[in-house]
Amino acid sequence: MNIIEQMIQKKAYELGYEKCGIIPIGLMDGYAKKFEERIEKVPKSKMFYQNQQRLVNTLATYPWAKSVVVLAVQYGKYKIPEVVKGHIGKSYLFDIRVDKNTKEYQNNRALEKYMQELGLKVETNQKFGVVGMRWAALQAGIGIVRRNNFLYTESGSWVHLEAWVTDREMELKETNDVLQCPKNCNRCMASCPTKSLSDPYTMSPTTCISFLTTFGGRNLPQEPLSRTFGNCIYGCDICQDVCPMDKGKWKEEEEFPGLAELSSVLTPENILNMEEGFYRKKVQPKFFYLSSEELWKWKVDVLCYMRNNYKETYRPLIINACNNENYKVREMAYSICKELCLQ
Ligand code: SF4
Ligand code: SF4
Repeated sequence: MNIIEQMIQKKAYELGYEKCGIIPIGLMDGYAKKFEERIEKVPKSKMFYQNQQRLVNTLATYPWAKSVVVLAVQYGKYKIPEVVKGHIGKSYLFDIRVDKNTKEYQNNRALEKYMQELGLKVETNQKFGVVGMRWAALQAGIGIVRRNNFLYTESGSWVHLEAWVTDREMELKETNDVLQCPKNCNRCMASCPTKSLSDPYTMSPTTCISFLTTFGGRNLPQEPLSRTFGNCIYGCDICQDVCPMDKGKWKEEEEFPGLAELSSVLTPENILNMEEGFYRKKVQPKFFYLSSEELWKWKVDVLCYMRNNYKETYRPLIINACNNENYKVREMAYSICKELCLQ
């Protein structure tokens, strides 16, 4: 009888989680092999993955861990404000990891409290995880990992994964009836503007737009790939948006707390003119991949977007950015002025 496992799963469903599975910690062993394989396939990703090394050896950090509770919660149900659609990645717009106003954040806290009340020692890391999340979800039967590397449930790839390690031996597999990718489909790979998705299940994270426009974007003015970013300003959803298995899965039914108001100030023009104080207070806490010192990266991202989608109304803004206090913003603006002969 797995009474305690069933109680956790029941509570998770009551809180609105789509899936909840529990696996013995030993099932995470295969993740180390997968991790090495990914680096071997794309050696230049080594630096990127080294930062995630702590996820490979969970027991080094949590020697008491005996099982992993892993859950999926659907976020593909929120209304996407027109002004940010296609410009800001949806997982960032609807990021429930840090926004205490969301019911998903509150449910995460409620589930942790419930497990503690059951007598379990548990640990999570809401922002960056305590285990290789997609691997854990796959082992727990939450869903399948597709050629674009995302984990899919019946709700498509628009799910957020959460996990806790626990000090109790437990196991309860979830069930799913998610179909495999159609045999000859390669839409995600063919659509990737930077060719980061080169082969099934193989990606180069350091050339992905989501990396280059957020925490990895250190030198966009000198980055040739920035010319392929199209409409993307911060993040990229293209390999999910084109996926036939995601077709019709996003249902714009609910308002996400505070997003409609915030979005109205996230136009390219407003970002370029944004004051540091406003950024630190209103924008950075939500889009935490860039620090409170990195408004300049948003401005460089926007200049990149303005170059890739140039229209005359951008001219004075780009010229004005040549006087920005940050040298990277100035460098980007200068290079655009030179290229497009703006004066
Ligand atoms: S998120 Fe965009 S850039 Fe990154 S792999 Fe997918 S399509 Fe390519
Ligand atoms: S686009 Fe096709 S190959 Fe890529 S993940 Fe979707 S179904 Fe699979």
